Amino acid sequence: MSVVVEHLTKQFTQGGTPAVSDVSFHAPSGAITTLLGPSGAGKSTLLRLIAGLELPDSGRVSIAGVDCTHVPVQQRGIGVVFQSYALFKHMTVRQNLAFGLETRKLPKREIEARVDEMLQLVQLEELGGRYPGQLSGGQRQRVAFARALAIRPQLLLLDEPFGALDSRVRVELREWLQSLHERTGVTTLLVTHDQEEALEISQHVVVLSDGRVAQAGPPEDIYDRPATPFVASFVGGTSVLRGRVHSGRAEVGTLVVEAPQSAQEGEAVHAFIRPHDVKLVKPAQGQEGPTASRVERLKPVGGYVKVLLKLPTGESVSVEVPRAEFDNLGVVEGDSVHADVRMAKVFLGDYSI
Ligand code: ADP
Repeated sequence: MSVVVEHLTKQFTQGGTPAVSDVSFHAPSGAITTLLGPSGAGKSTLLRLIAGLELPDSGRVSIAGVDCTHVPVQQRGIGVVFQSYALFKHMTVRQNLAFGLETRKLPKREIEARVDEMLQLVQLEELGGRYPGQLSGGQRQRVAFARALAIRPQLLLLDEPFGALDSRVRVELREWLQSLHERTGVTTLLVTHDQEEALEISQHVVVLSDGRVAQAGPPEDIYDRPATPFVASFVGGTSVLRGRVHSGRAEVGTLVVEAPQSAQEGEAVHAFIRPHDVKLVKPAQGQEGPTASRVERLKPVGGYVKVLLKLPTGESVSVEVPRAEFDNLGVVEGDSVHADVRMAKVFLGDYSI
């Protein structure tokens, strides 16, 4: 059951920028596809268009090969989970799960059996008699998933489902969602602005920027082969350095990295450098030389240390060094180090935000 979106456009204000502009993509059957982008990129609007909660100005949405652009939301066979729990507060978990099935006029015994099945699916068998106010945020969101799945949807739409939860619960629920998906196999579309969440959870990623598709593909492609400067900067927490091509290499700041094949001598380039793609080397005392960088700031974060480097050109580069490697390095703030760039993504032309 795949989703095909073709040339979808939606403009809320006349003469304004469209929220979604000529968007086409394919969400493969049985996979989790992520719509990834910064706030305002058009992710929620796109999801609402696919759900049938908004009507497009033009374009088409097909679900399982059927054009359903004008099919009402209740008839699209869709389960939706939003960031806010949207559970009925005055109903128990069981009553919340049964609600959608009652409105579909399923026989009472079938409803009871389906509710039991859903509680088991989301591992909340013990909590069926509780009210939403008696559950943790993570448990409430699991009930919201159970409710969305109770109608046996052909498509599951998730709009920042973990956005309101604290980071520990978010990470736990990411793994939980992956195992839930393995058990149900329902084609899923997930909206998130969190690139780590997108890369970890999904098999297919659609990166959106200003209402348009910037790149679509498997997470590895998005991460390793960003198609545009926007994707390179949005995915991976990169630093940007400007420079020029010299003898077939890109010289950016005091660093030298591989240039694109078509690059001409003297041409302007800009490079995106990921924090873990830089190796720091501490020079012997008095051997720093003119290309050494200064350790501006050090910040231990869990298993690694964030290092802010200042190049002699004044530009900054963020580096992440695994804790053990950092301890061996033995540097402190103010020290001089050499930065060895293992990998960088270089684009031709100047860079402007
Ligand atoms: P995202 O989910 O990526 O944060 P949205 O789809 O919510 O982006 O919004 C995309 C753009 O459309 C934003 O500029 C937003 O202000 C605008 N927008 C969204 N919904 C409406 C609406 N109902 N009326 C007017 N403008 C809207």
